[in-house]
Amino acid sequence: MPPIHVVGGGLAGSEAAWQIAQAGLDVVLHEMRPVRKTDAHQTDGLAELVCSNSFRSDDSQQNAVGLIHHELRQLGSLIMSCADAHQVPAGSALAVDREGFSAAVTQSLESHPRITIEREEVAGLPPEDWTSVIIATGPLTSPALSKAILDKSGEDALAFFDAIAPIVHFDSVDLSKAWFQSRYDKVGPGGTGKDYLNCPLDKDQYDAFIDALIAGDTADFKEWEADTPYFDGCLPIEVMAARGRETLRHGPMKPMGLTNEHNPTVKAYAVVQLRQDNALGTLYNIVGFQTKLKYGAQAEIFKMIPGLESARFARLGGLHRNTFLNSPKVLDGALRLKADPRLRFAGQITGCEGYVESCSVGCMAGLFAVMEARGQDILPPPGTTAMGALLGHITGGHISREDGAGKPGSFQPMNVNFGLFPPVEAPTKDENGKRLKGKDKTRAKKLALTDRAKADFETWRSNLAIEIAAAE
Ligand code: FAD
Repeated sequence: MPPIHVVGGGLAGSEAAWQIAQAGLDVVLHEMRPVRKTDAHQTDGLAELVCSNSFRSDDSQQNAVGLIHHELRQLGSLIMSCADAHQVPAGSALAVDREGFSAAVTQSLESHPRITIEREEVAGLPPEDWTSVIIATGPLTSPALSKAILDKSGEDALAFFDAIAPIVHFDSVDLSKAWFQSRYDKVGPGGTGKDYLNCPLDKDQYDAFIDALIAGDTADFKEWEADTPYFDGCLPIEVMAARGRETLRHGPMKPMGLTNEHNPTVKAYAVVQLRQDNALGTLYNIVGFQTKLKYGAQAEIFKMIPGLESARFARLGGLHRNTFLNSPKVLDGALRLKADPRLRFAGQITGCEGYVESCSVGCMAGLFAVMEARGQDILPPPGTTAMGALLGHITGGHISREDGAGKPGSFQPMNVNFGLFPPVEAPTKDENGKRLKGKDKTRAKKLALTDRAKADFETWRSNLAIEIAAAE
């Protein structure tokens, strides 16, 4: 059997190579460092953590990323075993000694009898005789490969200056203040005329909001980001606000074509719109609110918006250079490029965000490549599991809203979060029959989601015709 080629030895590529090799197939892992560097990596080590040393929460009962830790450990993940072995104290989070962690991953891969590591840049589409390839070159994919992928995928853009608008959990929006309506009640394809959630501001509220935006603390650009231009139409809101007090009221906050159903006789001075962000309708993004405000400032300022006073954010806004595919359009459910199915993608380039998420997509891509090489049906994890929910976000595949209404927003990278999971029946009362409220209710719901995920994951794993070997 010819080897499977993995391009990129980061979090995703290292895990993919490991899964394939552990399943008994040969792998060639191509990593361009140190021959060619990226703007963020500092070392030659595989699975280098470019920024924080945290894998975030390790709580698999109450946290979606903790649940991915659990699932990866069940699959004998190399990244998780090296993280566990090089853990540093970090409360309920899993943080690692970055050098020890990367050295352990590198050593395990270099010493694996089924893995060959080539230190070279893959500077264009992989040669035709590489019949099965996983591209896991990350947010800083080298320009030559980015260009080749872009040409092949038929898309207009791949390397974006990534403008990220905040995303809120729908159930944290105050519907006694916000209302559903599309501007001028327009019914677009698949729409209802009520596709947006609208939050009204009067003049005093608008003025206070603009003042807060202008005064808000912004994050600095990294040196290597400084020359990257903004995309047209993608200016941070605080930059727009600083250009003139009325700019936002004539831009993303314009009140035209909207009538507040809670107060129809009073015209709002400005309106903030939220658009459904996932097929389930559990997440909404704040339209046009890409920002470089620091996270603390964002949470404070956005809660000034009537209807969002108690908003819970699934993701805060940000702006940084990134490279990711329009995956729901260009990839199939097994992470293969529709235009060239011998190429499979993994990691942040598929539109997940974060070390752990990237590793988990690498893990799935590795397993899928093994199933394919053995002529087996590709069996993805169910959408009720953390890995399956993330796969659903990336490929837009197996999750669909029960009522069939709504449509996903534009595709943006995302960390795993409970908003990506299908709803679950959770207990409404405690063991004494007392109705659960507030934090207790939320805890019960998260526990129901993670219990279901673990049971479904175990069923899926036990049906895999791949023997899972624990990482040494
Ligand atoms: P990477 O880990 O970046 O690995 C990709 C690998 O591919 C690299 O080793 C690269 O050298 C190699 N490569 C690229 N092009 C080629 C080529 N043509 N041929 C061969 N090899 C190639 N996530 C977090 O969870 N926490 C953070 O604090 C965090 N901070 C970040 C800060 C910055 C500046 C950036 C850019 C990203 C940050 N991220 C963070 C996101 C982080 O990069 C990803 O979560 C994760 O590293 C992605 O894993 P990956 O395997 O997809 O890519």
